[in-house]
Amino acid sequence: MKKVVNQPELSQRTIAVRGGLNTDSQHGAVIPKISLTTCYRFEEFAKPRSFDYGRKSTPNRDAVQQTIAALEGGVDAILTNCGMSAIHLLSVALLSPNDLVIAPYDCYGGSYRLFNSLSQKGYFKAKFIDQSDDEAVKEALSLKPKLILIETPSNPLLRVVDIKKIATLAHEIGALVLVDNTFMTPILQQPFTLGADIIIHSCTKFLNGHSDLLAGILVFKDQKLADDVLWWSNNIGTANSSFDTYLLQRGLRTLSLRVLAQQESAMKIVDFLCHHPKIAAVHHPSLQSTSGHNIAKKQQKGYGSLLSFELKGDAQKTRQFVEKLKIFTLAQSLGGTESLISHPTTMTHAGISAEARKAAGISDQLLRISVGLEDVNDLIYDLTQALEYV
Ligand code: PLP
Repeated sequence: MKKVVNQPELSQRTIAVRGGLNTDSQHGAVIPKISLTTCYRFEEFAKPRSFDYGRKSTPNRDAVQQTIAALEGGVDAILTNCGMSAIHLLSVALLSPNDLVIAPYDCYGGSYRLFNSLSQKGYFKAKFIDQSDDEAVKEALSLKPKLILIETPSNPLLRVVDIKKIATLAHEIGALVLVDNTFMTPILQQPFTLGADIIIHSCTKFLNGHSDLLAGILVFKDQKLADDVLWWSNNIGTANSSFDTYLLQRGLRTLSLRVLAQQESAMKIVDFLCHHPKIAAVHHPSLQSTSGHNIAKKQQKGYGSLLSFELKGDAQKTRQFVEKLKIFTLAQSLGGTESLISHPTTMTHAGISAEARKAAGISDQLLRISVGLEDVNDLIYDLTQALEYV
């Protein structure tokens, strides 16, 4: 893999816009070509070029990896076919049967399922804890884990935990710190500056931003670790297609504009919901009432465009409200240009028992919104008219 040329003097906005441009020496195409070939002709006998086989690396993948590594301030990155395959790849590359991974009890459901199912098969051990509880963190670290996953803000209650504090404790016992930065993006949170060793993203979300591809990425600050994991990526086959990679690079060009505009609208929607008589609670890191607000203020560059709220009334009222929405789409992803609403009880968290949901603070009236790029006045009007039916 080509070494990333990190250019700290360029702003993130410029890095994202310029990623992969002007790399065509044959025709001078400004926008990178989609390299569909799976194999590359050797220069001569026993002399490969920079690329030899597409499972290992391609020009499109290399360009996106360099762009995202530079945005996160890392030295290298490995792009995979979805966020889950990135987490799976890292687990396979790092963990052996006696190794322990610590993850948040309220991490993304897919990460919970992956760690849980693989640990049940004996591939490694997994323990899920409340990472905002200092005692629970200390107790878990006394078990000498190899890897600790931090995911902040959490889904769907947007709870925030202190990356720097946990990373410092983890490093004292030699554990590696993996931060899932999907919700914040490098624009709003820079985990390497807070002590992370590895960053993972579901690029399916904000990094692409158009809800039309699946991809994941691992970003590293240590080249040796990146090279080891790249060997595993080629070994087990986690590569994604050049077409999807091309689209991801295209989406990245507007990353900072999208993230900031979506966040601005989210702040207005939070304010609207906080003052509406039919709303029982609002969860967004900008609010004092959200657990970890003071940490968010310190560790994030903004509060993001994901929020959740609870309606007054029962599950039936919640259903009526959602069915009356005209703009928000009932779907369970996030980070796209379109505003989505999801109902954790019947969607993302349907596989969890009612008791476990209750313990995690997820009520039947809880709804999560991913704010898109529509005019915020239209979005607020949509919420207003649907709330009239509640
Ligand atoms: N991490 C987080 C925080 C997510 O929200 C998701 C998906 O929703 C993933 C990881 C997994 O990503 P993917 O759906 O691209 O496999």
